[in-house]
Amino acid sequence: MFSKILIANRGEIAVRVARTCRRLGIATVAVYSDADAEAMHVDLCDEAWRLGPPPVGESYLRGEAILEAARRTGAEAIHPGYGFLSENAAFARACAAAGVVFIGPTPEAIDAMGSKSESKRLMEQAGVPLVPGYHGTDQSLDALRAAADGIGYPVLVKASAGGGGKGMRVVRDPAALSDAVEGARREAANAFGDDRLLIEKYLDAPRHVEIQVFGDTQGNVVHLFERDCSIQRRHQKVLEEAPAPDLPADIRAAMGAAGVAAARAIGYVGAGTVEFLVQDGRFFFIEMNTRLQVEHPVTEMITGQDLVEWQLRVASGAPLPCAQTDLAVTGHAIEARVYAEDPANDFLPSIGHLHHLRTPPEGPHVRVDTGVRQGDRVSMHYDPMIAKLVVWDVDRPAALRRLRTALAAYQVVGVATNLAFLGGVAAHPAFAAGAVGTGFIDDHTADLFPEAESADDTVLALAALDALLHRQEQAAAAAARSGDPFSPWHGTDGWRLNDDNYQRMAFLEGEAARPVTVHYRSDGYRLDLPGGSVMARGEIAADGDLVCDIDGFRRRVTVVRSGLDRVILDRGRQHRLTLDDPAARAAERETGGTGLAAPMPGKILRVLVQVGDVVDTGTPLMVLEAMKMEHTIRAHARGTIAAVHYDVGDPVEDGAALLAFEPGDP
Ligand code: ADP
Ligand code: ADP
Ligand code: MG
Repeated sequence: MFSKILIANRGEIAVRVARTCRRLGIATVAVYSDADAEAMHVDLCDEAWRLGPPPVGESYLRGEAILEAARRTGAEAIHPGYGFLSENAAFARACAAAGVVFIGPTPEAIDAMGSKSESKRLMEQAGVPLVPGYHGTDQSLDALRAAADGIGYPVLVKASAGGGGKGMRVVRDPAALSDAVEGARREAANAFGDDRLLIEKYLDAPRHVEIQVFGDTQGNVVHLFERDCSIQRRHQKVLEEAPAPDLPADIRAAMGAAGVAAARAIGYVGAGTVEFLVQDGRFFFIEMNTRLQVEHPVTEMITGQDLVEWQLRVASGAPLPCAQTDLAVTGHAIEARVYAEDPANDFLPSIGHLHHLRTPPEGPHVRVDTGVRQGDRVSMHYDPMIAKLVVWDVDRPAALRRLRTALAAYQVVGVATNLAFLGGVAAHPAFAAGAVGTGFIDDHTADLFPEAESADDTVLALAALDALLHRQEQAAAAAARSGDPFSPWHGTDGWRLNDDNYQRMAFLEGEAARPVTVHYRSDGYRLDLPGGSVMARGEIAADGDLVCDIDGFRRRVTVVRSGLDRVILDRGRQHRLTLDDPAARAAERETGGTGLAAPMPGKILRVLVQVGDVVDTGTPLMVLEAMKMEHTIRAHARGTIAAVHYDVGDPVEDGAALLAFEPGDP
């Protein structure tokens, strides 16, 4: 076994590999870009090596620099994780030439399977059933058209070098073929530097079922059963489970055997995944991934094996830890990929800081594979996956209950996430019934993308109670400081001279104003809400949670407070309410506390003022380009520009102070 390895990746997979190494007593070397200098994977490893600036081309894809790091730190082997250099045959060759073990298959196997066309030819020879299609070398439009006519529409045009759902086009009408071919070629050339295409029959309602295979240098090959990864968006996996629900035993057995045959056909060494589509009781090979797969934890949960440990053993020359007959399935596991993305906005990545992050409690039933901590930033440079939430239980219904509970306890504030969307899938009756297919999300759009619901009276009551308790805490602190804790002027019970003891508050949710009238009572507050009155009392716990009693219903909710904003997190639901406090707003305006920070990461397009300029409320100061849109930063009060921190063309982080401002008349 190795005594030191380098982990050539970042995020959750780097953390996950480091954990296994630590358990096995193997020393680890992390690599990092400038964006990841403080990242979790760097902390977890024994040593760390800087690669360069954040873009992947200047950091995690620099094979030469990574090999140099291995040489300089004395690492005997490199674990590539997935993505990045994991399926790069040239890198695997360079490792061999440098005398460093590449933890993965041979360069020849990567070459053979890296091209979907080449792999389909090999699988055809090995007798593995293929999706009907064309994977020939003649790439002329005429040849592709003739192939599509022969296959019959609809067809799927795919990049032979493709991955991650890129370079794929569904064509339903022959007239649309030439545009699709042109588009797929362009995308493939850009993304993979290889514009070769293949054409497949487009199956309308398949399931994606894949077989985990493992080979060693002694010629042993086993499979570790299947995973169903049918729940996908844009041809990319979102939820994965093992075993596949309701897969007939004969198909399961035949697929396992086909997976092993595929691996044997190329003398496969290490972890690999043979992907199939299943439809109408038949299965068809689509591709093989020559690496550890993102969703490997579900296989680990049902087999009790550590696949990274298997990889390390095999790469060091040891035989597979078990034979096929030693492997068995226990229970059911489901993985949900938690992404920083906005499901309502076509699942576009959401960039920003993880202002608040709380994960469900882990144990034998719940595993969280993540590479980020509270305060970390989801940047535009890398995959926006926050974590993989993996659950296990004795059967699928029990595992699904675990999933729903764990998703509801997962809290993220700061970026948009797909947590509520995942919760919707997990709660869907069709998913519970095991009626999965790659069209699931499209088929159930109406249920899975509900209109955003506005805060109900309960949420409003929680926000009001939290604001009142906070004010009380602050007043108590101020009174303690003032030396006269009993002065009536510090009271927060609504006491006023010649006045009733009630107070009006309002919260803003988006544009909508939500009024609350507070009546002070000896045992708490009576809150008049749009739908009626409630009695509310409670306290703020040491961890910041709001522990409360509303009309006798006791519960604990999380409140993330930032200025006048409150995000209320209550069992998977999340609402942002802003206290509409005219006095506080005026105070903020006076101190110049807001408005001059970049609202999101982007680039400075125009600078419209210079130091010494006197501006009025609303004067445009700078124009920022972010997410392909222009945003004008305006003065929030009259005042003088004291400093301009950025020039045209400069990139800015979100929250960066763009200008300094001296409020008031000069
Ligand atoms: P699978 O491994 O099941 O095929 P996907 O194809 O959806 O899963 O995702 C794997 C791909 O996603 C990788 O090949 C890589 O391009 C990208 N990816 C996802 N997360 C990361 C990450 N943390 N680091 C690098 N690449 C990642
Ligand atoms: P990638 O390399 O991007 O993972 P795959 O060939 O594995 O590409 O396909 C990704 C997904 O696209 C599949 O899981 C499936 O949902 C869909 N898909 C691929 N081929 C077909 C096909 N012939 N018919 C229908 N759907 C397909
Ligand atoms: Mg695939």
